[in-house]
Amino acid sequence: MKLLRTIVLYGILGISLFVLWDRVLRSQCSKLIEYDIGEFDERFGLERENFLTHIQNAESTWESLVDKPLFRYVPGADFKVNLIWSEEQARLYEGNKLEQNLNTAEDSIDSLQTRYSLTVQKYKNAVAQYEKSLASYEKEVTYWNSQGGAPTDIYEKLQNQATLLDTKASEIERLSKQVNSLAEQNNQKIDDYNNGVNEYNSLFTQGYEFDAGNTDGTEINIYTYASSEELETLLIHEFGHVLGIDHVDDEHSVMYYLLNDYNKEGELSEIDIAALEVSCRL
Ligand SMILES: [Zn+2]
Repeated sequence: MKLLRTIVLYGILGISLFVLWDRVLRSQCSKLIEYDIGEFDERFGLERENFLTHIQNAESTWESLVDKPLFRYVPGADFKVNLIWSEEQARLYEGNKLEQNLNTAEDSIDSLQTRYSLTVQKYKNAVAQYEKSLASYEKEVTYWNSQGGAPTDIYEKLQNQATLLDTKASEIERLSKQVNSLAEQNNQKIDDYNNGVNEYNSLFTQGYEFDAGNTDGTEINIYTYASSEELETLLIHEFGHVLGIDHVDDEHSVMYYLLNDYNKEGELSEIDIAALEVSCRL
């Protein structure tokens, strides 16, 4: 009885020590994690091979610090890295499209405004010229009327001038219509542009946070990213969690809880490296 109890006790102690060693003493960094690509949504417009390259870049970011392989791509492995389509990514793509349209609209407004200014200038010149010609014509007519009439050749010359003035007047009318029509087109385009800007802003200015990626230690899910750098940063971040690193309280660090302008290049900070050293007991 006594012997049995001792054995049981040792047995239990042995199991506890094993659990302690496995869960606590043995760090995440001591095992090689084999992974495969799981769900892969093609709406991201990314080649599967490129996705793998980004994953491998992310893993080597950590591996270069411990100088040994921590992760390995093995087709069929249980641990999956998933690229999952999200509302957020759809919103991002919609925003990119709107932005492109706005840029095109801006160019078209610019060129329309140039045309408008040129036409206004043309109109002003034509009016100035017309007024000058009209004044000299009227002066001459007044003079000859005061003389009781003009000689035939002068009379004919004045008639020609009157016809020319009519032609100039029609040209001015045509230019004036053109100016108005360009102004209308311009206003319409500016209205459309402003509506586009409002639509774009309403996509992005609501306050919200989203989960760009996550991991539960058995898989990594990537939901949204705006650039290759962001994708790689997310992967480095999630691999960091898989290595047992928690969030750090520094916005310049990859292990900060938010992807932001300071950490989106995916460069590990001193704080990230220190966190790895603790987690891996280096
Ligand atoms: Zn995180």
